[in-house]
Amino acid sequence: MNLEEYLYEKNVECPVCGNKFKAIEVKQKAYVVDYRDSDFCVHYKNINPLLYDVWICQLCGYASLKRTFSDMSFKRAELIKKYITTKWVAKESEKVIDYESAIKRFKLALISAQISKAKASEIASICLKIAWIYRFMDNVENEKQFLQYAIDKYTEAYLQESFPVENLDKTTAEYLIGELNRRVGNLEEAVTWFNKVMSDRTASERIMKLCREQWNIVREKLKINE
Ligand SMILES: [Zn+2]
Repeated sequence: MNLEEYLYEKNVECPVCGNKFKAIEVKQKAYVVDYRDSDFCVHYKNINPLLYDVWICQLCGYASLKRTFSDMSFKRAELIKKYITTKWVAKESEKVIDYESAIKRFKLALISAQISKAKASEIASICLKIAWIYRFMDNVENEKQFLQYAIDKYTEAYLQESFPVENLDKTTAEYLIGELNRRVGNLEEAVTWFNKVMSDRTASERIMKLCREQWNIVREKLKINE
């Protein structure tokens, strides 16, 4: 299968330095879902569009998730120029992105977000996606580490930001934080978050159902540990 047939180039302008460059985009037809995990990680058939979710400006070194690429304040841009551009060494951008290079690209986005003081929810989203790529690679240890980073940042976002954060409404965020805690083995924490969802009448049918299923898994685990 030729992966390049799922890709095209898109003209993008860097919000930090004004450089115009071509970013790789995934064609709509490539988004064929195979199945979804309980923490919303999507497994695709054919090509994995998640691997193409980071754009990098090779002129100044700014990297970000596509969705937030253009969100840039003057203050944040100054931080990128001061701490990233001065150390940046441009590289050839690869067209077809594998797991290894996706991890590198997402980590660059993470550095850009941290250095320029991006919102906690944005950092959380990058960490969660890095965890998912490690999941695709069957690297359980690194997956857990990045799930834990995502938990910390989503919890911070939950307390500080107003909903929706990163497309998540309040109960979906509570469910997700609970589920990520369950996955790393923080069962008591998971229960606390799942209870928030269960006692909230605004939770959607879909989230309630997911929450009940994962709650039952935790309950069984806690019984065994008793
Ligand atoms: Zn730039």
